Amino acid sequence: PYDVLVVGGGPAGASAAVYAARKGIRTGIVAERFGGQIMDTLGIENFISVKYTEGPKLAASLEEHVKQYENIDVMNLQRAKRLEKKELVEIELENGAVLKSKTVILSTGARWRNVGVPGELEFKNKGVAYCPHCDGPLFEGKRVAVIGGGNSGIEAAIDLAGIVKHVTVIEFAPELKADSVLQERLTSLANVTVIKNAQTTEITGTDKVNGISYKDRETEEIHHIELEGVFVQIGLVPNTEWLDGIIERNRLGEIIVDKRGSTTVPGVFAAGDCTDSAYKQIIISMGSGATAALGAFDYLIRN
Ligand code: FAD
Repeated sequence: PYDVLVVGGGPAGASAAVYAARKGIRTGIVAERFGGQIMDTLGIENFISVKYTEGPKLAASLEEHVKQYENIDVMNLQRAKRLEKKELVEIELENGAVLKSKTVILSTGARWRNVGVPGELEFKNKGVAYCPHCDGPLFEGKRVAVIGGGNSGIEAAIDLAGIVKHVTVIEFAPELKADSVLQERLTSLANVTVIKNAQTTEITGTDKVNGISYKDRETEEIHHIELEGVFVQIGLVPNTEWLDGIIERNRLGEIIVDKRGSTTVPGVFAAGDCTDSAYKQIIISMGSGATAALGAFDYLIRN
């Protein structure tokens, strides 16, 4: 069996695997797609000490770093579908193989919920963005829309209003769902417009985004706004459905961890965007991957 088996090959999983391997213990890493979300990311400017890099380049560095350790088995293009705690922890893969390990680190990440309108996929990274902390500065002085009036949408709108020329918030429901302090802050900003009861129907553009269309749900009229960017903020979904009923998760589906990365199942740890960490970023995921690996090592020497 493995001493540490990491499930997920994004920044959190790669960091956990390197930290585990450096303890000289038998480590495995299973990933559906090595690199994770950064494979879909163009410019990265907030990975501290690296002024600028691109997602696929960072993913290649992660893989190179992991593969430098001979005591790490890398199993790419494999999806885990079941976890069971017996004497050891068992992970069953979609191909039927069952891997056994003394400890497991779950780092299966998350995915942004898409709005699913024409133009969204076509203009991803060409004006359609999901992360205001990451991509906000790319729209300095430009006009953007934020789709979604929940807490993340309104936080994004407030954040972006300080950088861009104008922000339009588009909310499907007749009312914003964000906390009232955020709504108050938002209404105090001069360069923000809020459109409620509006269904986004299309993100338009040529080689990049040039506007957004929405339907007024009361009058059924279609309106079009000219702008340069669209931030989709309708939720981040953790890739934890397969753990339902086995590991405690919060109402968002995020795995609940303590300060050592431990979950409610002894010997099972978690790190990165699949957990209930307050913020989801590369540098934060890597830090929590390191924490979970050290937590797992601590568990091994005590059990
Ligand atoms: P992920 O990167 O989501 O990796 C999860 C891993 O688990 C993947 O390898 C996946 O294939 C695998 N996996 C999932 N389910 C299973 C399963 N059942 N079995 C096996 N493997 C599985 N952050 C920044 O700090 N700066 C940025 O500029 C930035 N830009 C971003 C731009 C975009 C478009 C997106 C989507 C995100 C961006 N982020 C950015 C956020 C950042 O990418 C994430 O916070 C980070 O990748 C999370 O790392 P993670 O390892 O926790 O999860």
